[in-house]
Amino acid sequence: MTFLESYADRVLLLLWASVVFIPLERLVPRARHQTLRRADLKLDLAYTFVGVIPIMFASAIFVTGVVAALSNLVPDPARAFVQSQPLWAQVVALMVLGDLYYYWVHRLFHRVPFLWRFHAVHHSIEHMDWIAAHRTHPLDTAITNSGVVILAILLDFQVAAFAIFSTQFAIHSLLKHSNVRIGWGPLRWLYLTPTFHHWHHANSEDAYDKNFAGQFPVWDLLFGTAIMREDHGPEKYGTNDPVPRTFAGSLLYPFRRHAVDAGAGENENASRGAPVFERPGPASTASPGLSHP
Ligand SMILES: [Zn+2]
Ligand SMILES: [Zn+2]
Repeated sequence: MTFLESYADRVLLLLWASVVFIPLERLVPRARHQTLRRADLKLDLAYTFVGVIPIMFASAIFVTGVVAALSNLVPDPARAFVQSQPLWAQVVALMVLGDLYYYWVHRLFHRVPFLWRFHAVHHSIEHMDWIAAHRTHPLDTAITNSGVVILAILLDFQVAAFAIFSTQFAIHSLLKHSNVRIGWGPLRWLYLTPTFHHWHHANSEDAYDKNFAGQFPVWDLLFGTAIMREDHGPEKYGTNDPVPRTFAGSLLYPFRRHAVDAGAGENENASRGAPVFERPGPASTASPGLSHP
């Protein structure tokens, strides 16, 4: 698939998404007074239509490099085993293993101050909706979202399996950021709900460094970083880090001196990228018996 075909596919998905998410966010909004035209919409549209281009280039470079480095290390029987599996099993394997990678790399981006400067761009979102989902720094997305691509190439997963995985991942990514208050009851522990990810974006100390999973809350449950508050969303989203509200400014933010200072702990928001994630979460919020997504 050429670059243009890939870009065209993304635009087509966005058109379909607008047909679904615009009415959905009006029907069952999480933030009732938030409208489609809200603060930072222009910034998020720039990330949606232009930011995707450096993401595609950065991802291609990262994937090519890692695959070249690791391809000789994968034994042939491992590839043969994958190819012998039915399509559905390959899709499930991509989802589960891909999300395990995502969980730990995402956690690393919160843990290491240098990486947090890139991830802070995504956490600068103060109004959650499906368009804001696109506000991610290319270097962040290239590393966190490419693990599953590398896995699929190294182990020769079927193209159809990867296509099914990618489609559900893209739709789920928009859904989990969208301004909706929908859930799926007890299945919330099986497949991540929007509210679960909204709490990852909460700007309140009790929610910092929680809910790292991309698709399966079980990783947060297993590794002690889950908060389940399905019945209500955060009061405030965002980060205290001084991420600029312009496209160029936010792209360059991780490389600027003040960002380095913030990452070193001179800014109170830097705590989101600092060792705090190692502390055990409050027992009351870490329990799966409580409400959330
Ligand atoms: Zn994060
Ligand atoms: Zn997010």
